[in-house]
Formats: sequence, C-alpha cells, structure tokens
Amino acid sequence: MWWRHAWASQGAGAVRFGTARIFTNLLWKMSMKVYKRPDMSIWQATRRRIWEQDQQRCQGPYCRYQPPHSLSLSNAHIDHIVELSRGGSNDDRNLRTLCRRCHCLRANHTHQGMIGVALREGIIPINWREYVWEG
Ligand SMILES: [Zn+2]
Repeated sequence: MWWRHAWASQGAGAVRFGTARIFTNLLWKMSMKVYKRPDMSIWQATRRRIWEQDQQRCQGPYCRYQPPHSLSLSNAHIDHIVELSRGGSNDDRNLRTLCRRCHCLRANHTHQGMIGVALREGIIPINWREYVWEG
C-alpha cells in the first residue's frame, strides 16, 4: 500500500519530532478522503435507494432474471461498479445492488477477501473460479 511506503520513508523523522501521532492521523485522513464511503447514516439511505431503484433484486449475471423483490435489504450488497480505489465515485450511477454470491464472484481483487468465508459457508461452489464474472 502506498501509505506504508510513505510511512517507512518519513516515519523516523516524524517520531523524532514527536509528531508520529499527528502524522499518522494526517495519513489516515488523506487515505480516507480518497477511499471513504459516505458517513454511515448517509450510506444507509443510499443503500436503500439503490436497492429500491434496482427493484430489490440483484443485478449480477446469476440473478438478474430473478423476480423483483427477491433480495432483502439486509442481504443486499451495494457494489461500486468502478471501485473507489480506481477513481469511482459514491454517485448513484456508480452503484448497484448485488447479492453476496454475485458480489464475491465479481472479478475484482478487492472482493477476494470474501471468497474464503463464502466458500466455507457454502455461498459459492468449490469450482467458483469458473463463475467469476466481469462487468
Ligand atoms: Zn446475485
């Protein structure tokens, strides 16, 4: 991660002047500004809005022909079509509703953390790699 490098190269100086905490906070704020989702209450409202716009249905390739209202809000994952880390925004046009399975299987390195747990819980099959989708 880029900030680790920044920390390693400047951390020693920051510690010497006793500003390590301030420096860390600054880095944190900088990184949050880039990657942050909106505040929780705003995000909850956004979640609901996107889910309703998507007719309460997963937009993934394995579910898009499911009937409307087939996905509950609590099970809905709101996906950034263009990842935040790649310059995507929190704008509604960049958001869509996915179920957990379609979300896990989306080809995206930031989603790989979900694979292990989803496998153990039987959300995705052993041969999940065959079902990875892009888009
Ligand atoms: Zn789905």
